[in-house]
Amino acid sequence: MPNPAAHEGNPSRRRVLRGLVAGVATLLGCSSRGEAGDGGTVAKLDCPHEAWRKTLTPAAYAVLFEEDTERPFSSPLEKEKRAGTYVCAACALPLFDAKTKFDSGTGWPSFWAPIEGHVGTSTDFKLIYPRTEYHCARCGGHQGHVFDDGPKPTGKRYCNNGVALAFVPAGDALPELRACPA
Ligand SMILES: [Zn+2]
Repeated sequence: MPNPAAHEGNPSRRRVLRGLVAGVATLLGCSSRGEAGDGGTVAKLDCPHEAWRKTLTPAAYAVLFEEDTERPFSSPLEKEKRAGTYVCAACALPLFDAKTKFDSGTGWPSFWAPIEGHVGTSTDFKLIYPRTEYHCARCGGHQGHVFDDGPKPTGKRYCNNGVALAFVPAGDALPELRACPA
């Protein structure tokens, strides 16, 4: 004899599943809106990291593509205070507006927010405890680490290697996005 409860249970499980699918879709929607920022998306540059050796200094290559860290107080950009834009030293994607720069006293250029959608993050365990590494959303070049001890309004501190950035003063044209070095 069939169990009526089992038959009643099926539609209910389907409703739950439909609810879950809708919930996941909502989460994905929120997440992609967050990354896209103003509606644009950064197309990834599918370029083997080695190719950037041709156009970068050894120091910049070591930071961007071997996740090296420059010596503190070694970058002239640490003291840069002019209005303008900081772009990726490899592919020239704008990463930070100078309006978000602050003097952290750490010896590295520091910002409280990147240009929305222009950096990606991952967790690294190089110093045993987990840190959040961030990189250029376009070429994948490593920029620095983000910490939770920054100033208002975000409370974040994007601690950036100066050698991984190029500064474009306000009024100067931003450089064209670079293609993969041939
Ligand atoms: Zn880049």
